[in-house]
Amino acid sequence: MADITVRDAMTKDLITVQPDENVIELAKKMRDNDIGSMIVCEDNKLVGLITSEDLIKRVLIPNKDPSKLKAKDIITRNLITTSPDEYLVDAINKMIENNVKRLPVVNESKLVGILTDGDILRIAPNLIETWIEKRSREEEEEPKVISGICEMCGNYSDNLRKLNGLWVCEECYESSPKI
Ligand SMILES: [Zn+2]
Repeated sequence: MADITVRDAMTKDLITVQPDENVIELAKKMRDNDIGSMIVCEDNKLVGLITSEDLIKRVLIPNKDPSKLKAKDIITRNLITTSPDEYLVDAINKMIENNVKRLPVVNESKLVGILTDGDILRIAPNLIETWIEKRSREEEEEPKVISGICEMCGNYSDNLRKLNGLWVCEECYESSPKI
């Protein structure tokens, strides 16, 4: 899981619009391509993002005339972005922390893709598989025995074992639930 980068999960085939595109045309593109968001791009450079929520909040609810609006009028700028080389786990944390479902992927100031929650769900089986493999490899390497202070009860033991990241004595090891 730690080795997987944004590049492995992102969507590369982007449908983008120009900042001057009319909002009705933009909404049609979203409908025709069955997508919930549209990247606004100028000369391969990311300008911002428009989501279906933006259409509701910035056009429908304020009762604006969409034929008079351009993409740039309802755009969300200053997006949180990721890069293709960022670890996927870090990008997922970014999405969670900032409460966003999509991260534009930018490389040397050029837009190269988008990472969505759907992309993550699609790659999730691979992620889980890799994680389980790594986990079982770690467990195989583990039956090392060392002596020292148990990190759970504080007693000295000459038979410390690793349990969920802690060195614990035999008694603590036996009485703890294994994750
Ligand atoms: Zn102990």
